[in-house]
Amino acid sequence: MGDRWRVVVDRNVCIGSGMCAAAAPDGFRLDSARQSHPAAPETDAAESVLAAAEGCPVEAITLTVADSGEAVFPPEE
Ligand code: SF4
Repeated sequence: MGDRWRVVVDRNVCIGSGMCAAAAPDGFRLDSARQSHPAAPETDAAESVLAAAEGCPVEAITLTVADSGEAVFPPEE
């Protein structure tokens, strides 16, 4: 990998399951309302972050390559 990823959580969609923070404890934080936030707007590409996005039950997490804007998750159709 070696890319930087931009991480966005759609708070209108997040149901606060906490699965992302469990999958990638360094990548996501839950606030007092149990809404998930990226720990930082960008992160090094990491399997744990991808697993968090893939594992979100409501697909609230979007990952794009920071430089190019290319879709990482969900993948482009
Ligand atoms: S896994 Fe999805 S629904 Fe659950 S806290 Fe994370 S972003 Fe929200």
